[in-house]
Amino acid sequence: MKKFKTESKKLLDLMINSIYTNREIFLRELISNASDAVDKLYFKSLTDSDVQLSKDELAIHVGFDEGARTITISDNGIGMTKDELDKNLGTIAHSDSQAFKTDNAEQQGDDIDIIGQFGVGFYSSFMVASKVRVVSRAFGSDEAWAWESDGVEGYTITEAERAEHGTDVILTLKENTDEDNYDTYLSEYGLKDLIKRYSNYVRYPIQMEVSKTREKPKPEDAGDDYKPEYETYTETDTINSMIPIWKRKKSDVTDEEYNEFYKTNFHDFADPARTVSLHAEGALTYDALLFVPSRAPYD
Ligand code: ADP
Ligand code: MG
Repeated sequence: MKKFKTESKKLLDLMINSIYTNREIFLRELISNASDAVDKLYFKSLTDSDVQLSKDELAIHVGFDEGARTITISDNGIGMTKDELDKNLGTIAHSDSQAFKTDNAEQQGDDIDIIGQFGVGFYSSFMVASKVRVVSRAFGSDEAWAWESDGVEGYTITEAERAEHGTDVILTLKENTDEDNYDTYLSEYGLKDLIKRYSNYVRYPIQMEVSKTREKPKPEDAGDDYKPEYETYTETDTINSMIPIWKRKKSDVTDEEYNEFYKTNFHDFADPARTVSLHAEGALTYDALLFVPSRAPYD
């Protein structure tokens, strides 16, 4: 087993045991990493003619298994080699996170929402998971590797199997306690809600198997007293709208949507004082959103 670097360990401790209550943002962070990984592969395909890629195959998949208490976030993006797993997931990638650790080491326990102010990244998964397994296969490689950790001391990297390039992040959720109910994430409704709330504008489809009900076909020999019968089936649905909020008509967007977009993307915990929506069509065409924060930034 490899040990986490000291700074990573401190941040992990903070995340897992912190005052921070907005645990549900873990999904946004993992989906944003998946989207980045798909982006990287897509850009590679634009510059490297050896990469044959069909844009509509690029997608992110979210699934869950109630019995095993797992949530899986999969992408068919660029993937990671064994070295990259070690380098990227073994240390804090964020300089922001690093600064946070230094600035706030003495303030632990204060009731302040600091983590919400920046992208917290991969480690946020340990706010809800007792074990995280990442299975990844780098694009162009035929090897797959699994990174696994309980978020306490360190991690292991072992050989694994994966049919295609990309990454699966498999979270084993913590057991429920009196205060925390992690089961809410183990439901179709719970996950769809989080995807819509925090990842609606991710530009790749975020897909889920969803269960639906339909009427069974009426038998040919059905009599007059035939009552329609129903069956449930599952289907892959795209959950996010993908249309960026700045492209939508102002009248179609609620204040809550604008505020939520501002807060999650600019890491503020207060609503903006003012939101200005601009749409210009002419020699130059553009759509823009301007947010005026409700308080001046620290710098
Ligand atoms: P950030 O996304 O800000 O760089 P994270 O902590 O979220 O920080 O992720 C750390 C790094 O791990 C990423 O920069 C990326 O290199 C790698 N990574 C995480 N998830 C994936 C993924 N699904 N596919 C490929 N690389 C990933
Ligand atoms: Mg990230």
